Amino acid sequence: MNLHFFGAAGTVTGSRYLLESKGDRILVDCGLFQGLKNLRLRNWAPFPVKPKSISAVILTHAHLDHSGFVPALARDGFDGPVYCSKATRELCKILLADAAHLQEQDAAYAERRGFSKHRPPLPLYDTQDVKRVLRAFSSLSFGDNHDLREGPSVRLRRAGHILGAAIVEVNWKGRRIVFSGDLGRYDDPLTVDPEPVHAADYLIVESTYGDRLHEPRDAQEAIGAVIERTIARGGTVIVPAFAVGRAQMLLYYLERLKSAGRLADTPVYLNSPMAAEASAFFLRHSDDQRLSDEERRRACAVAKYVDSVEESKALNEDTTPKVIISASGMATGGRVLHHIKKYAPDPRNTILFSGFQAAGTRGAAMVAGAQTIKIHGEYVSVRAEVQNLGMLSAHADAEGLLRWMRNFTRPPRMTFVTHGEPTAADTLRRRIQDELGWRASTPEQMDCVKLS
Ligand SMILES: [Zn+2]
Repeated sequence: MNLHFFGAAGTVTGSRYLLESKGDRILVDCGLFQGLKNLRLRNWAPFPVKPKSISAVILTHAHLDHSGFVPALARDGFDGPVYCSKATRELCKILLADAAHLQEQDAAYAERRGFSKHRPPLPLYDTQDVKRVLRAFSSLSFGDNHDLREGPSVRLRRAGHILGAAIVEVNWKGRRIVFSGDLGRYDDPLTVDPEPVHAADYLIVESTYGDRLHEPRDAQEAIGAVIERTIARGGTVIVPAFAVGRAQMLLYYLERLKSAGRLADTPVYLNSPMAAEASAFFLRHSDDQRLSDEERRRACAVAKYVDSVEESKALNEDTTPKVIISASGMATGGRVLHHIKKYAPDPRNTILFSGFQAAGTRGAAMVAGAQTIKIHGEYVSVRAEVQNLGMLSAHADAEGLLRWMRNFTRPPRMTFVTHGEPTAADTLRRRIQDELGWRASTPEQMDCVKLS
C-alpha cells in the first residue's frame, strides 16, 4: 500500500492524501491550496492521478482547505461517493456553495476591472459543479465502524475543531491508518475535546501550531480589552473571522462581555451571509456541542445580521464606533475586504484577527506589520491597530497535539507530520521523536511512502 502526499505537506493548506493499493484508490481530504501564489496555482494544475480512478473520498471536516477541491475533482471525472460526518455534510453545503459563488464573483470582478492575468478570468468551479457533487455526499456516524463498499472500514472520532470535524481511522488490507484532521483545543468553551485514539500502524498528524503555545491569557478578557480601547478612541473593530466556528465563538464571547455589563453601547454586526447560515446551523445542531441550546441562542442574538450588499456598504458610511465580524478569516476574500479598505487607513480603528494566518495571505502580512496591502488591485495603507488573538484559534497548540498523541498505548510504525509551515512541522517532528520516542517524518509535496 502506498500513501501519497498531494497537499498539506510543507504547508498548512491543500490537505489531500491518497491511499493506493493494487490500483484501488481512496482519497482522504480534498482541499484547496490557499495563501502564497505558487500554492494557489496548484489548484489549477491537473490532479496528480486521474480523478476517475479514485473510488471514494473521505473528508475530515468542512473547512475549504480540506473540502474545497471536491467540486473540481468531480467535474474532472471523479464519480464516487464522498464520505463524512453528518454535520460536515451540512456545512459543506454552505461552504462549497459560497466558495463557488465567490470564485464566480471574483472572476466577474476581475474581468470588469481588467486585473486578472487569465483572459477571460475563469472561476475554478461554479455553482452547478457544487450542486452536482453534493449529491454524492454520504454521511457516517461517529464512533461506529463503517464497512465501505469501496473496501476500507472507516471510523470517525470527534476532533473537537469545528462542528462535525473528525479524526479519520481507515482500516484497509490489514493496516490501520489514522488521520488526525485538524485537532481542536482541550477545554474550548464551544467544542468538545479531541477524542483519544489508542493505536494505529501509521499516523498522519497536523502541526499548524507545532512550534507554538497559545497565550494563557483569558480570551474573553483579551477581546474585551481590544474592543474597549478602540471604542475609547472613537474607532471601529473589524474582525475577519472564519465563518464556520470562529464567528460563533466570537459571538459567544461578545455576549458574555455584554451580560457582564461591558460594551453596553457598542453595536455588533455580523456581516457575512455565510457566517449567518453557519450560525443558524450552530443553533439547530445540538449534537457535538458544549453550550446549551439557550446559551447558543443568546450568543447568536448578540449581533445584528447584515444581509444585503446595500446594508454592507452602509456600514462603511456609518461613523459610530462598532464591531463588525465578517469573513474571510485570513482576509483572502469576501465582504471583509471592503471593510478593511475603508477602516485600515485610520489609526483609531483595529483589525482583529482570530486564528491562524497562512503565509501569503493579507492576514499574515498585516499581522507581520505590513504598512500597505493590495485589495482588488489597489494599494491600501494600514495604520489601524492590528491584533491576532491566537487563543481564539480552533487548533490545538504544540502541547495539545502531544497530549492527544500520549493517548496511544504503543507507537505507530511511523508518524507523518503534515499541515504546518516547515518550521512548525519540523519542531513537532523533533518533539515527537524526543519526548514520545516515536519514529516521525515530515513528508514533502508529492512524496510517496510505502506502508508495509
Ligand atoms: Zn480546519
